[in-house]
Amino acid sequence: DFAAVLLERDDEGKTMARLARLSDADLMDGDVTLAVRASAVNFKDGLAVTGRLPVVRRWPMVPGVDAAATVIASEHPRWQPGDEVILTGWGVGEAHLGAWSDRMRVSGDWLVRRPATLSPVEAMALGTAGLTVAEGLDRLLRHGVTPADGPVVVTGAAGGVGSMAVMLLARQGWSVTAVTGRPAETERLRQLGAAEVIGRELFAGPAKPLARERWAAAFDMVGSAVLAHVLSMLKPGGAAIACGNAAGMDLPASVAPFILRGVSLIGVDSVRVPTARRETIWSHLADTVDRHRLAAMTQVIPLADAIGAGRRIVEGDVAGRTVVAIGYP
Ligand code: NAP
Repeated sequence: DFAAVLLERDDEGKTMARLARLSDADLMDGDVTLAVRASAVNFKDGLAVTGRLPVVRRWPMVPGVDAAATVIASEHPRWQPGDEVILTGWGVGEAHLGAWSDRMRVSGDWLVRRPATLSPVEAMALGTAGLTVAEGLDRLLRHGVTPADGPVVVTGAAGGVGSMAVMLLARQGWSVTAVTGRPAETERLRQLGAAEVIGRELFAGPAKPLARERWAAAFDMVGSAVLAHVLSMLKPGGAAIACGNAAGMDLPASVAPFILRGVSLIGVDSVRVPTARRETIWSHLADTVDRHRLAAMTQVIPLADAIGAGRRIVEGDVAGRTVVAIGYP
C-alpha cells in the first residue's frame, strides 16, 4: 500500500481531508502507472480540500493537479518504465485521483517528458502556474500586445501564479506592476523582477466604466471587481488575461473598455492545453527560467503538511509556489 491524501464527504456533504493508506486496487483506469516524486499546492487543490467551490467531481478524491513522476508500468506506446514525466491538469485532482499520493494511474496521453534540466522540484515549482503564465503570454503576443506598448499589471501578485507571472513577464522584457494586499511581500516581488509594487487600494470598491489609462496588458488572478477595475484602466488596444477567481467568479464590469478603447479579455484554461503545445512550453520554460528566482519563490513541504497548505492558500495566506515532496521508494 501507499500514502495519499484522501478527500471524503460526511453525511452533510462537508469535505473531510486526511492522510490515508491506499492500495493498487484503489487506482483508477489508465495505461500508465506512476511513482509520484513531487506535486504542488494550487488554489484549486485548496478549493478541493476545503470544499469551498465544487471542483471535486468524484468521491472519494485524491487532490493534487500537478505531478512530477517516474513511470513504473506502461501499456502506452510512448512510455516505458523509468521515463520521467510531468502531468498537470486534465481533470486530475478533480475527476481523476490526483498527485498528493505516492502512486497514480493515468492516461499516457496526458504526460509530457520532463526536460532533463529540470529537477522534479523545479518542474513542480513551475507546474500549473508556469504552464498558465506561459500560455497567457503566448496568447498576449499572438494578440499583438508587446512590452513596447506599455507596462503590464499582475494582480494577486504574491500568490503562486502571480509570482510566476511577475518573474516570467519581467524576464521577457515587460515592465511589471505587481498588485498585492501583502506589503511584506514587496521586496520579494521586486527581486522577482517587478518594476513597481502597489497595494490593492486602486482596485477597491465597485469599478467605474472607464478610469485613467495605465497598462497595455494585465494578468489577473483575482476576478470579480478587481478584474473590472483592471479592464477600466487598460490602454486602448490593450488586453487582459483572465487567469483566476481568487476573489470570486463574478465580473461586475462595463462594456465601455471594449467598445470605447478596443480592449480585449482573453481567457486561459491550463487544464486542457493540448499535449503538443505543452511540450513546446515545457522545453521553453526549461531553457529560459531563472533557477535562482524560481527557488526563491518556492517552498518545499512534506505530504503530511499539504492539507494545511491547501487550507491556507484559499485564505490568501500562501506566498509564491509550494511544492509537495513525495516519497519515492
Ligand atoms: P494563490 O497563491 O492563493 O494566489 C491568489 C492571490 O490572489 C493571493 O495570493 C492574493 O494575492 C490574491 N487574492 C486572494 N484573495 C483576494 C481578494 N479577495 N481580493 C484581491 N486579491 C485577492 O493561488 P494561485 O494558485 O496562484 O491561483 C491564483 C488564481 O488563478 C486562482 O483563482 C486559481 O484558481 C487560478 N488559476 C487558474 C488557472 C487557469 O488555467 N486559468 C491556472 C492556475 C490557477 P496578494 O496577497 O498578493 O494580494
